[in-house]
Amino acid sequence: MSDGVPTLDELIVLIRKFVQERNWEQYNKPSALAVSASIEMGELLELFQWKSDEEIMEYLKDGAFKSALAGEVADVMIYLLRICDKADIEPTEAIVEKMKLNFEKYPVEKWEGKAPSKLNRSE
Ligand SMILES: [Mg+2]
Repeated sequence: MSDGVPTLDELIVLIRKFVQERNWEQYNKPSALAVSASIEMGELLELFQWKSDEEIMEYLKDGAFKSALAGEVADVMIYLLRICDKADIEPTEAIVEKMKLNFEKYPVEKWEGKAPSKLNRSE
């Protein structure tokens, strides 16, 4: 842990400890974890439901809203890190590799200012 901020690997160990102490390993099958991550993502989306982009920017100035959002972001990430643990995926390495592909797939010369929608991909 550098500067008191845990690394992703340290968070994986912390989450694993939480699960093992409660004998929940039996429930932490990869498919159940993926379902749970998706459910938590739904809870995150619920915070934005029926709000315009302008309203969301206002809500983000509110401490209670931001705290609720941080809680849902954490819930999603905890399940994703748990999946990494179960599947022996090093998350930092996976993100670096994916970003290398994204840099290749979306060169600045072609994609600057363009949303990477399916419509734009056929150009
Ligand atoms: Mg939640």
